[in-house]
Amino acid sequence: MSDNEFELIESCFKGKGGHSSPFTRFAIGDDASIHHPRAGFDLVVSSDTSVEGVHWPVDFPRSRAADRAVCAALSDLAAMGADAVAVWVNVMAKDESSVRKMGKGVSSALKRYNVELVGGDTCRSPVNAIAVTVAGELPEGTAMRRDLARSDDNVWLSGKLGFHALGLQQWLHHQRDGEYVHHLEEITPLISAGIHLREMGVRCCIDVSDGLLQDAGHIAKASRIGIDIELLQLPNWIHMCRSVGRKAFYEAVLHGGEDYALLFTAPAEMEIPEALAVKIGCCREGSGVSVFRNGEPCEVEQRGFLHFG
Ligand code: ADP
Ligand code: MG
Repeated sequence: MSDNEFELIESCFKGKGGHSSPFTRFAIGDDASIHHPRAGFDLVVSSDTSVEGVHWPVDFPRSRAADRAVCAALSDLAAMGADAVAVWVNVMAKDESSVRKMGKGVSSALKRYNVELVGGDTCRSPVNAIAVTVAGELPEGTAMRRDLARSDDNVWLSGKLGFHALGLQQWLHHQRDGEYVHHLEEITPLISAGIHLREMGVRCCIDVSDGLLQDAGHIAKASRIGIDIELLQLPNWIHMCRSVGRKAFYEAVLHGGEDYALLFTAPAEMEIPEALAVKIGCCREGSGVSVFRNGEPCEVEQRGFLHFG
């Protein structure tokens, strides 16, 4: 690597994230970062890759794409109920300007959530892409997991669904001032909500990245239960149905991903604050996800986003 490239890394990445955490003893600048996990806490780690032309349209701003990539990775920590402590970013870029633009997006996301950038890699590539690894911590044994739903739990949703899918449709149809397009700009990882749920005693949660049906299906399968969802309980359904039509609404909320809402289950006696989530269904014995509209069963296609489906 030339001196020039070290300077590029220094200027784009060193010290560009949020504040350092006691978890990190040494961040960017050596062969590896050095960390010291807190006693009595579990370390939660997730890695996520975004590729231009696959995860974002080629004419989408690269800084926005990188910002979104960081937030999508942080959302995995939110789903576990962890507080983010460190981020690593591998940037694969066609040219220096792409490195700078992606660096800018990484930095703005990490500053918003005050998480330190502790390392990564930067290399030339025929296609722009970014891989983000995030680490978070939570009290030992308290992580919210997909396999911990019970058949008598209720199903809750914190956050919104369908906005990203509708925004993407408008962007792809060149409706750049469409009602939903601005939802493409930023992902909001629900970190505080995730921590709050975990502290309340919620045991089972997932972030909805690949569509409600598919992600609810992950909980059902991992927990060996069935899930019933009532469409009319979904937030914003009246407005969305009116603005895009029923078919597009169903498509967006059931199969559209990338809104990063939190889907979780909780025992009926657990009180969930109204400001935090809405109840959208319940678990049952059995398997699979069934969808109802005003109590009537709906025929829906069981699919979400699959890379190799
Ligand atoms: P090495 O060759 O030893 O793997 P590099 O020359 O790739 O190290 O990187 C030098 C330092 O810069 C390392 O500490 C690495 O973590 C950091 N770094 C490189 N690229 C990035 C990036 N995209 N984001 C954050 N840190 C980076
Ligand atoms: Mg090295």
